[in-house]
Amino acid sequence: MSLVIGVDLGGTKTAAGLVAADGTVIRRVSAPTPAAKGPAAVLQTIVDLATRLTESAAGAPLAGCGIGAAGVIDPVSRTVQFATNSLPGWTGTRLGAEIEDRLGLPVATVNDVHAHALGEAVHGAGRGERTVLVLAAGTGIGGALVIDGVLQSGRHGAAGHYGHLPAAEAAGLACTCGGTGHLEVIASGPAILDAYLRHGGSPVRNTQEIFARADAGDTLAAEIIDVAASALGRALGGLINSVDPDIVIVGGGLAAAGPRWWTVMESHARAEALGLLAGCHIVPTRLGADSAIVGAASLLAAPAVARLSS
Ligand SMILES: [Zn+2]
Repeated sequence: MSLVIGVDLGGTKTAAGLVAADGTVIRRVSAPTPAAKGPAAVLQTIVDLATRLTESAAGAPLAGCGIGAAGVIDPVSRTVQFATNSLPGWTGTRLGAEIEDRLGLPVATVNDVHAHALGEAVHGAGRGERTVLVLAAGTGIGGALVIDGVLQSGRHGAAGHYGHLPAAEAAGLACTCGGTGHLEVIASGPAILDAYLRHGGSPVRNTQEIFARADAGDTLAAEIIDVAASALGRALGGLINSVDPDIVIVGGGLAAAGPRWWTVMESHARAEALGLLAGCHIVPTRLGADSAIVGAASLLAAPAVARLSS
């Protein structure tokens, strides 16, 4: 049985796993991402983790290494097209070629949100479904469309930036992308925190604490969460109308925050959807922290990305 190494490279942590063809993760390793030390150190961390997994494979054949990495990754050139300052100097890194040279294995690369979506679509909550729409809502908002097990990455590898859809509730607010009025500035975790403070809420450590205050009867906290969840739900309803998916999978930190957020999000998505589509299956993720590792590994099962197969 041939195994694949899957890598989930984030701004703070790099996780990797030895993955079987059915998506089972046999062994996991992880290390902090040395983001501040620059791309060479980040690449070395991937190589170190992959080497540890190769040794633990005990001679079993390895088909390659799939990497889901922060930033916009062109799956054809396997180069980082754009990265935020969570990974300084990362833009322009020849991720695929550099790792392939050092590991001596075929390497496929994709954005980390795309890897997460592919994992859930192929081996998680979307297994067996044809058209799978994945939405992740947490620190940022993104996702992907996966059709017949093939990720639709778009021309630049940038498809699925759902956080940058326009949202009425965000009118006039500056977005992280440089634009204004985008969904992410009203519906992400940090956006909930900002809105709570902007509207006079007392100092708070993080978004989870706002959820706890809402549960304890803080009406401002409850209202801010309501606005965020309903904005996301309405955008999701619009996406459902655009795609008519067999299933929608919603993940990320906000999806895991409990029924308060989920119920509002789901009801607004259904209300926004066309009557024929209002009964669309909307479900939570199933693979947890493994989803990006499993999705990255599945890149080696061709064709997993539309831009590679076209
Ligand atoms: Zn934006």
